[in-house]
Amino acid sequence: MKTYKIACIPGDGIGKEVVPAGQAALEALATAGGSFAFDFKNFGWGGDWYRAHGEMMPPHGLDELRGMDAILFGSAGDPHIPDHITLWGLRLKICQGFDQYANVRPTRILPGIDGPLKRCKPEDLNWIIVRENSEGEYAGVGGRAHQGQPIEVATDLSVMTRAGVERIMRYAFKLAQSRPRKLLTVVTKSNAQRHAMVMWDEIAREVSHEFPDVTWDKELVDACTARMVMRPATLDTVVATNLHADILSDLAAALAGSLGIAPTANIDPERRYPSMFEPIHGSAFDIMGQGLANPVGTFWSCVMLLEHLGEQAAARALMAAIERVTANTTLHTRDLGGNATTVQVTQAVCAQFLPVPA
Ligand code: NAD
Ligand code: MN
Repeated sequence: MKTYKIACIPGDGIGKEVVPAGQAALEALATAGGSFAFDFKNFGWGGDWYRAHGEMMPPHGLDELRGMDAILFGSAGDPHIPDHITLWGLRLKICQGFDQYANVRPTRILPGIDGPLKRCKPEDLNWIIVRENSEGEYAGVGGRAHQGQPIEVATDLSVMTRAGVERIMRYAFKLAQSRPRKLLTVVTKSNAQRHAMVMWDEIAREVSHEFPDVTWDKELVDACTARMVMRPATLDTVVATNLHADILSDLAAALAGSLGIAPTANIDPERRYPSMFEPIHGSAFDIMGQGLANPVGTFWSCVMLLEHLGEQAAARALMAAIERVTANTTLHTRDLGGNATTVQVTQAVCAQFLPVPA
């Protein structure tokens, strides 16, 4: 029997509530299915680790993750530590250290969930956003000088490489090609940003020639927000820069009902390193420790984890379980207008895999 080594990094805030929930669902699935098992290893990295050691993870932490089959991540963000320290010290260290350059974010309106768009039918919103995850606005290039002086200066430089843009475009075109509509929208801002974004557009066009069966169009990012709200059915696969896709995918999640249901996969398509799966939401300081966190985004991330491991049947079983649970509105957490707790939703999902008692 195959045993998968999974690193669990709950991190901070509600990450500590939703990662154990995801772990429980994977465990229940493995127990019921009997064809594979999980060997979970937990890492207590994050804000608490920072308070004890002055850093978010150990200096050689990546080496501890290297041999894993996948990583299940919660969130990095602590009310008492600046956000740029928590983000760069943990999540970005892993994403960039393991060159997980494709961040894949599916969005759908799940059964039982009432999205905020009144004219949008569930079948009108079925998107997958591909986020460039290794460079661009998050390249970390920039600096500050004259700190505290009247002439203080600060820069954040967006860096795009031809290799980096080519590989994400190729990934996005291939993904679009694998979906029924074979439709890709390339998000840009090349009207205002006239260097890197113009190269981004040029490379999109070049790569498109490798995929003659994919229909593609180009949309400015600001117009894309309006299109998501006004004409959701015209979108299918979307590719955007690190920052643009970060913002568009929170909007996508909200249009599908809640930030709490949306999943993401940080993929190294070449499989040189483990890939990392996480809900798109953050630490949610306002609800942490209260049992109010919606674990669905984490469960859906576990579906993506299973797909990445090649366990397609298990992935489908988990997705079906999630959909049966969301269809039951008494199992909705507060963000969806219900009053179920994290634990109740988790138990309901896990119960789907257990043999019915005689
Ligand atoms: P957030 O996603 O934590 O919360 C935004 C809002 O959505 C809050 O009202 C929250 O209660 C709600 N929400 C989010 N997830 C939910 C869930 N599963 N169930 C129910 N409600 C949910 O975003 P924020 O407030 O901007 O950030 C809080 C902290 O998290 C910051 O430190 C930020 O840097 C960090 N953050 C980390 C990640 C990550 O590690 N991947 C992502 C985003 C934000
Ligand atoms: Mn985000």
